[in-house]
Parts: sequence; structure tokens; C-alpha cells
Amino acid sequence: MSAKIGNQAFVNKALQDNNLQAKKKFGQNFLTDQNILTSIVDSASITKNDAVIEIGPGLGSLTERLCDVAGFVLCYEIDKDLIPVLENNLSSFSNYKILNKDILEVNIDNDIDTYLKDYENVYVVANLPYYITTPIIFKLLTTTNKIKRLVMMMQLEVALRICGKPRTKDYNALSIAIQYRCFATKVCNVPRTVFIPAPNVDSAVVRLDIYDEKKYNVKNEIFFFELIKECFSQRRKTLVNNLSNKYEKNKIIKYLTDNNIKINVRSEELSIDDFIKLSDYLSNEQQS
Ligand code: SAM
Repeated sequence: MSAKIGNQAFVNKALQDNNLQAKKKFGQNFLTDQNILTSIVDSASITKNDAVIEIGPGLGSLTERLCDVAGFVLCYEIDKDLIPVLENNLSSFSNYKILNKDILEVNIDNDIDTYLKDYENVYVVANLPYYITTPIIFKLLTTTNKIKRLVMMMQLEVALRICGKPRTKDYNALSIAIQYRCFATKVCNVPRTVFIPAPNVDSAVVRLDIYDEKKYNVKNEIFFFELIKECFSQRRKTLVNNLSNKYEKNKIIKYLTDNNIKINVRSEELSIDDFIKLSDYLSNEQQS
């Protein structure tokens, strides 16, 4: 393996030598902790038969590790100023491609067909730009079915919500939307002090294993996603009160009583299966 490039001295020198400053508008916080880089890469369980998509390679600290273990690494980096630095830092590798593009604008499915079709599995591994964490995750989960696993660093608060379980304060619409498609686990917490510059939040690494076959089946997904958003719109309110502006109150109450659920139940007490049943019931009722 080549020399590790992601330590503090390296990041400072790379920025200085290239007359660069971390750009806040692109969420640039460069990771400088070798142990965390190791945890990210190890937790993705990558082999040479696999391809990895990295979002925001930055100066290449994580990319270097990924090139070591993966068959191929496809990177999307929005900041054109970083491309020459990145290419220089990765000069000992040839199994990567950097696209100077905005991840939210690209057609990932087409890019996988173009660059990664010969690999057994496609994984995403990234230290995400935090200003667009959720749009990126939703894009990856909804615009292609070719990705099997995502291992991503994100703000701790979002990580806790994504992995949130019923009856905890972290469980909300995001927990359900993600866990409907993936098995979510938190890999590790990451303090803000290991980045240059330090962000003003702590972080965590999350692993999402996307279910091969749909684990849950809901009749109308658009209706379901709208419904869960409404269910959690005001946390202190009961489920009935959150829903009664948009859906018929007597129908929600009938559903709860028919299913032996107390009428004053709060959304955080219900499982994903409960929300699916509620969604199927209400969407059917709306049609009839
Ligand atoms: N991977 C590097 C590391 O761990 O040190 C940098 C991570 S930094 C948190 C986020 C990276 O995402 C930056 O390099 C930034 O320029 C890039 N980025 C921000 N917005 C992006 C977008 N819309 N599409 C692609 N890359 C983006």
C-alpha cells in the first residue's frame, strides 16, 4: 500500500502548496484521522471484484484507501480546483476515474453502465458534503437499483435519525424512509476535531445495506412517503392530530381501533409495518 496521504500535515501542506482554502459552500472538511479512514474502508467490506463510487474525494485521503482495496473507483468531485491536486495525489493508481460533476445532477445509472458494469458489486463510500446529505442519499436510493451498499460519513444527528428505532427520540420520517429500503447500522462516531477545518457538528459513519428483494411492500409508495412526513410533522402531537388536517379523522380512528392501537398513540410508537398497513388502508379508502 502507498503512503497514507490523509494526515493533518498532509492536508495542510496540500492546501498551502496549491494555494487552496477549504470551500465552505462545497462542505469541504478534510478528514485527517487514519483510524477513521481504516474503519470506513473496513466496514464497507470491499474486494477487488467490487467497484466503489466516491462522492467528494477532496484531496484523495479516502480515495487512496479505496483504490487499494477495490477493483475500480468512480469519483464525483464538484470543485474543479481540486482535480489536479487529486490526480497528483493518486498518481500511483490507475484504477479510478474522476468526474468533475455535481452528484445531484448526474445520471448515476448511466455512469454505472459506462464505467462499472464489469464489477460484481457497486458500493458507495463517502465522506459526504453535509449541506446535501439527505438529497444525496435519496438520489442514490431512488434513481438506481445497481448499488448494494452505502458507507457514508455524515452529521451525527442525521446518522442517529437514519438508524433510529421505534420508541426512541431519534426515530422519525427519515428513519422509516431509509429503513424501508435498507438495513441501517452506525459504524462509529467521529469527533469534529479530526477534520480540517473542523465542522461545527460531530459526525458518524453509517452503513446502509440495501435489501436485495423489497423487504417491505406498500401499495402506493408516493402516498406512503407523504403519510410518514405528515405523521411526524409535529412531534408532540398524537398521530391522529398530526394526520387529521389531511386525512379523514374518523377513518384514522377506525383503523387504530380495528388494529388494537390506542387512539392517542404517537407516531414514534409505531413500527414500519404499522405505517405500511396504515398507508395501504388510507390509500385504499381514498380511492373508494
Ligand atoms: N473525501 C474528502 C475527505 O474525506 O477528506 C473530502 C470530504 S468533504 C466533507 C466533501 C467533498 O465533497 C468536498 O471535496 C467537496 O468539494 C465535494 N462536494 C461538495 N458538493 C458536491 C457535489 N454536489 N457533488 C460532488 N462533490 C461535491
